Amino acid sequence: MMSQSHDDLNGTADSYAAPIDVLVGGDAWRWLFVGGLFLALLYVVIPYGHLASVVYVVATTLAAIAVALAVKRRQRLFCPVAWLLIASALGLAACGHAVWYWLDLRGLEPFPSLADAFYLSVYPLFMAALWMMGQRSSRGDGALSDALIVGVAAAVPGWALLIAPYMEDSDLTLLQLLVSTAYPVADLILLPLILRLVFLHRARVTAHLFLLWGMLAYLTADMLYAHGNSVGWYGPGGITDALWLVAYTLIVAAIWHPSASVEPPSHISIAELSGRRFVVLGAASMLAPAVILLTAGVDVEVVRVAAIASILLFMLVMHRMAGLMRETRRQADELEKLSRTDPLTGAANRRHLESELEREMSRALRSGSPLTMAFMDLDYFKRFNDTYGHPAGDALLEELVGAWRPVLRHSDLLARIGGEEFVVVLPDAGIEEAWRVVERMRKLTPRRQTCSGGITEFRPGDTAEAFLARADRAMYAAKHGGRDQVAIAEKAS
Ligand code: GH3
Ligand code: MG
Ligand code: MG
Repeated sequence: MMSQSHDDLNGTADSYAAPIDVLVGGDAWRWLFVGGLFLALLYVVIPYGHLASVVYVVATTLAAIAVALAVKRRQRLFCPVAWLLIASALGLAACGHAVWYWLDLRGLEPFPSLADAFYLSVYPLFMAALWMMGQRSSRGDGALSDALIVGVAAAVPGWALLIAPYMEDSDLTLLQLLVSTAYPVADLILLPLILRLVFLHRARVTAHLFLLWGMLAYLTADMLYAHGNSVGWYGPGGITDALWLVAYTLIVAAIWHPSASVEPPSHISIAELSGRRFVVLGAASMLAPAVILLTAGVDVEVVRVAAIASILLFMLVMHRMAGLMRETRRQADELEKLSRTDPLTGAANRRHLESELEREMSRALRSGSPLTMAFMDLDYFKRFNDTYGHPAGDALLEELVGAWRPVLRHSDLLARIGGEEFVVVLPDAGIEEAWRVVERMRKLTPRRQTCSGGITEFRPGDTAEAFLARADRAMYAAKHGGRDQVAIAEKAS
């Protein structure tokens, strides 16, 4: 009985939900976008009053519902928790608007009021959401430091234009002062979080582009409101209010856009600093000193803020540089390693063998300690390739190196110098020891294949070519002797 009613419930939920999908499909975002813009326009057109305020509150509530619905319905959504926070933020904004208009239309002072508590609680949710979206990308990118550089730089004129005027306004009560400054301060924290996403993903994911424009519209509306309020031109019912609705609309379009399910590629490594980014960072870094230059002697407070920001900027730039240097060093190391490695097997390549051999030969000459070389060649490898195919041959070569490595000491060198030809350099090993090692290697040849080897000891007066040629001759002797064996080079004549 229980399960029956459960099924019924699910069935009912689905049959309610299905038409939404049919109606909106992959084009949902277009309809929602147009609808949102229409409501924003409607709000501006209707004279400010009860109807306009209802339109505003309803539009915001619908935006919150649309985002929440998308979180519930859309599969494989990128960072759903972040979107849930955004949905809650929009819900709180709607409450804020309802309180604000209710007070304003009753001729009560809406600022500061309960509305501000709602409005201000929107910011931490936005911040957390944007932070989470940025965190999903790999660490070690420069996006956060770059975003902080621009954010800190923007904070200086932001302070001078938006926060400083409130500070000087002696008519404001302490509460009014705190609440008024809280908005621009929150905006200035929000800004680098948005920029970080821009720097991380560029314009690759449309949904994120919408979200970013939405957040930027929100910030712009905030700034206009702050400015309009401090200078006195702001009145409800106008473009500034509508801009918030446009912001909500963009956010809704973002989550309903098909690309919202895409995990954005964070393709920027810390090493990347494109020309355009460089110009942006350079210009940003000059903003704070420029403000000092322009306001020096006029407004000590702003100069102080700009000076602190300059120090911060300098530290951030240094941090970024250090990251770049670390990354460059890592890449150089990697490149150096690649340049001496055989890509298929990971053994040393011929170039590395040649340089190491010269070193070991001089060392052997100086110290008088023995130095032995083995030349190894797979038997009938062509036949193996012909029978099992080239890829299987490649796999055999890889396995071979994997099987041989554990037999060798750290100071030994295993190099692949041709298709199925390997050279092993064994410092401080005489012929007998080398013979034991190479015999073990021969027996470890994988996939029931065999190999032949030739070994020879370094003789004073040897060139690298002569040394190698003698090992090669010994290997050929092993081939002639019936393969699957190790031969020792002829004695010096
Ligand atoms: P032997 O016992 O006389 O050494 O006979 P072999 O067939 O091993 O010798 P040969 O030199 O005639 O053939 C070597 C073959 O190695 C020819 C080529 O197809 C194969 N080979 C060379 N490089 C590669 C490689 O990188 N991958 C694979 N799979 N095969 C390679
Ligand atoms: Mg061979
Ligand atoms: Mg060969």
